[in-house]
Amino acid sequence: MLNSVDLSARELGMLKLMVDFFAEKPELTAKIESYTTAHYALLTTYSENFGIPVEDSLKVFEELQKKLLDAEYVRVKAPEPIKKLLPLTREELNMLRVLVDYFSESPKMAPAGAFLSKREDALTETYLWFYGNSEGNGEVAKETLKNLIEKLQTAVFVKVDTLAPLAVTPNPYEAALKQLDVAAEKLNLDPGIHEILKRPMRTLIVNIPVVMDDGSIQVFTGYRVQYNDALGPTKGGIRYHPDLTLDEVTALAAWMTWKTAVTGLPLGGGKGGIRCNPKEMSRAELERLTRGYVRAIAKFIGPFTDVPAPDVYTTAEMMAWIMDEYSEIVGYPVFGVVTGKPVHVGGSHGRSEATSRGLMYTVVEAAKHLGIDLKGATVAVQGYGNVGYHAAHLLHEIGCKIIAVSDSKGGSYNPEGLDPEKVLMHKEKTGSVVDYPSSAFITNEQLLELECDILVPAALENQITKENAPNIKAKIIAEGANGPTTPEADEILFKKGVFVIPDILANSGGVIVSYFEQVQNQMNYYWTEEEVRNKLKETITKAFHDVLKMSKQYNVNMRAAAYMLAVKRVADALVARKGTTFSPIVPPLTPS
Ligand code: NAD
Repeated sequence: MLNSVDLSARELGMLKLMVDFFAEKPELTAKIESYTTAHYALLTTYSENFGIPVEDSLKVFEELQKKLLDAEYVRVKAPEPIKKLLPLTREELNMLRVLVDYFSESPKMAPAGAFLSKREDALTETYLWFYGNSEGNGEVAKETLKNLIEKLQTAVFVKVDTLAPLAVTPNPYEAALKQLDVAAEKLNLDPGIHEILKRPMRTLIVNIPVVMDDGSIQVFTGYRVQYNDALGPTKGGIRYHPDLTLDEVTALAAWMTWKTAVTGLPLGGGKGGIRCNPKEMSRAELERLTRGYVRAIAKFIGPFTDVPAPDVYTTAEMMAWIMDEYSEIVGYPVFGVVTGKPVHVGGSHGRSEATSRGLMYTVVEAAKHLGIDLKGATVAVQGYGNVGYHAAHLLHEIGCKIIAVSDSKGGSYNPEGLDPEKVLMHKEKTGSVVDYPSSAFITNEQLLELECDILVPAALENQITKENAPNIKAKIIAEGANGPTTPEADEILFKKGVFVIPDILANSGGVIVSYFEQVQNQMNYYWTEEEVRNKLKETITKAFHDVLKMSKQYNVNMRAAAYMLAVKRVADALVARKGTTFSPIVPPLTPS
């Protein structure tokens, strides 16, 4: 069976660069000959054209190479008015393989970088050597190359069919765009507004030199993406990770835009990060890096423009450094420039359990909607970290029975119920929830399929898949983790009548209390934990009912409804703010 895969926008951009290099008048790759190897020339030119680091260009090339070398057929969509998918001929596909090989780091067909000056001949000669042609001269090869160039230079879309299954790493930005497309289609969104929402408003790439503890200098690449600020200042965490890419940060910034919108916060969405390995750095190096990052992005952030927060491998302590460095730059204390700070330097009460408390409130509303009595309702929790533990604790507090919990080593199950506090103590003592007294061992896979009322995935993404979704018996799934359910599984669960509270709603308690932190900083007046909890309950409960209403109105599942509501709010704000400069339909002037 054939597997079909589309080239991403970035891969298509790179393919066009490669093809352009062989065109008669190259425009995109005018400078490419000043480099020593075709591989390096391509990566640096691509990096310059798209404003991304060379490492990211390499990732795009590798994905593209994987797809094209496995291709059985390649179909190319020309621009309108043809608008059809036209297959490349067998000869053109072979030429494409030679082309990809030519630009790879260690070419197997053409010798590496040997032909930068006689490029067209190099390509056609390599083609003839490998594939031959009946007439024995280079004209057929040259003609094939010309046709390939023509087809690919104008292509708007490329589809690749392979016999072998493709193991392609999903690109998070592409995934985020697909979600937007689905919501836009259902909402019948104006195409112009849709175009605006497909792209980040502003992307900043910075390079930060840091003096390491051994006296050497290392330069780290950092990003800050402000995706959309139609609803207010952008907000979103800062991630430190060695594999961080701009696409990942952009996708996370898009998701923040939808998350703040769906919860009804007066905020836009953003995200940032630095490519670094914090596990290999000392605390002092991390402090210098964090302060350097703040200096590099200081002009673009602030309580009224863009407010960062912690994310993967960034901590409350680092948020305090960010606040301090920014305050030094502007000359007075600006607590509201960042959230997730320790409580004694402007942090909010109730932040550490906010995500799970918000999740608990959404479960309460879902249970009311479905007529489930939460007293004695059974709960299984996957993951026993910050979100999983607090969710178990808070659901237990309101009368639910926690029958199973797990972590990366496996889980513990007792149909009579577990005490979340004691399980935490056991985990702190032994390093895992496994082997908790008077409970049975259970695997993570078994936990997901348990007979229970509520399932809380609070560990990793892609846990509920099309394979296990048919066996899931829970009535409610409250997504503590980000992306625990695949799109195929979502469909299956919807048809089975499982009520899924999607991540952007169920785990939005964290960003809601982050917003409260910022508000308290601006007022310089602080709320008690009780006040924070009440405001959180009010905000997330309203968001839950807004999404439920949308899902009923359009007969879609809660996830689709959450995206639709979010996209609609951002689009409405854009149109309202920009008036006739943006409005797709200019209303006639009403005489006063
Ligand atoms: P954490 O690191 O504190 O806890 C993660 C837990 O998952 C740990 O108990 C770990 O052992 C467990 N785990 C890891 N691999 C597992 C596996 N294969 N099977 C089962 N369990 C496994 O992280 P956290 O802050 O609790 O975040 C959990 C999820 O919630 C993540 O997806 C995160 O993005 C999301 N989230 C967190 C917050 C927050 O405020 N902390 C907010 C929104 C979303």
